[in-house]
Amino acid sequence: MASKEDKNKDASGGSSSNNERPAEKPEPTENIMDRIANFFADKLHLSSTSEDDDTDGRQVLQSVDIPGVVSAFKAGKFKKIVTMVGAGISTSAGIPDFRSPSSGLYHNLQKFNLPYPEAIFELDYFRENPQPFFKLAKELYPGTFKPTPSHYFVKALQDKGLLLRHYTQNIDTLERIAGIDDEKLVEAHGTFYVNHCVDCNEEYSMEWAKKAIFADNVPTCTKCNGIVKPDIVFFGENLPERFYVLPHRDFKQCDLLIIMGTSLTVQPFASLVDYVSDHCVRLLINRDKVGKNSSGFLRSMIFGEGLCFDLPGNRRDVAYEGDCDEGCLHLADQFGFGDELREMVKNEHARIDLESGKCEASVDAEAEKEIGEEEASKEKLLKNDVKNEKSTKTNDKA
Ligand SMILES: [Zn+2]
Repeated sequence: MASKEDKNKDASGGSSSNNERPAEKPEPTENIMDRIANFFADKLHLSSTSEDDDTDGRQVLQSVDIPGVVSAFKAGKFKKIVTMVGAGISTSAGIPDFRSPSSGLYHNLQKFNLPYPEAIFELDYFRENPQPFFKLAKELYPGTFKPTPSHYFVKALQDKGLLLRHYTQNIDTLERIAGIDDEKLVEAHGTFYVNHCVDCNEEYSMEWAKKAIFADNVPTCTKCNGIVKPDIVFFGENLPERFYVLPHRDFKQCDLLIIMGTSLTVQPFASLVDYVSDHCVRLLINRDKVGKNSSGFLRSMIFGEGLCFDLPGNRRDVAYEGDCDEGCLHLADQFGFGDELREMVKNEHARIDLESGKCEASVDAEAEKEIGEEEASKEKLLKNDVKNEKSTKTNDKA
């Protein structure tokens, strides 16, 4: 899915905001024509099918800032919220940055003599030499990390029936762990959750693959002996089908787009912000104001490119500059469900701790049982030996 230049821009597997893997799939001409047609219909008020017709973009927000978004939320103006997220929502979970030299991940891979670090996410290289990828996969494997308040913020929106869809660039499966429904989820860069044989396409579960990966084995297809690879998107692979199908449906209807923890530099993910209608409020929660339109408001208006913070005439793009978790908790407080969100985080984390504790305990119990059985069988053998010895002696005597 990525060209050579893209690779230079991006060295890894999508777990940091600078780090999302690019993709390329040219937008079909009919989509571009659709967008142009929709743009003019919208501008000239030709389309009368939208239920938002009474919602003039100019009046969605009383003020183009966080208080404006809060009062629109409280007034029930947002019923179809789309969230778009990147690695920034997972960093507080402790998911290491692939690229950062301090995380040591690449350092650990030196012994594999990768021709260049990105080779680890290239299908051709993987087929020849899958070990480096699985070594990295073991260190990053989902299950050892807990979702962050940002993930539960999205879950809370889902529980309130306000979430239309959640688009994530992350491959850490924390959305699934947080309880975001399959159907609400678009994992743009794939997931560890499902695995397929690179040769015969046989599907394997996460538990199955995990067992092999944690035993430092390359997961191998039981049907054809091919390598079984997690469904995370490698360079040269297409993004999941859902990513190409759902945005055209979702973003047109969306009334609030929340963008969190992403640098909005990797295509085609970044361009999703332009798919929304003119009425849609776009809220960025991020350390920096990213995704800004650099070519001016007119171009942004006509071609619908980028976010319009600080541009004259901006009437719907709002930024919360700061940490994602802080931003989500702040917003939840303002929206009126902050306590509920904190409670959810506390209870869910306790549940995950308990379950992983149970898991460890049951593994221990199983190990003890195995050791016990081993001891018992040794003892049995010993007894048999003694018995045999005795009977041999008896026979000798006889
Ligand atoms: Zn196979």
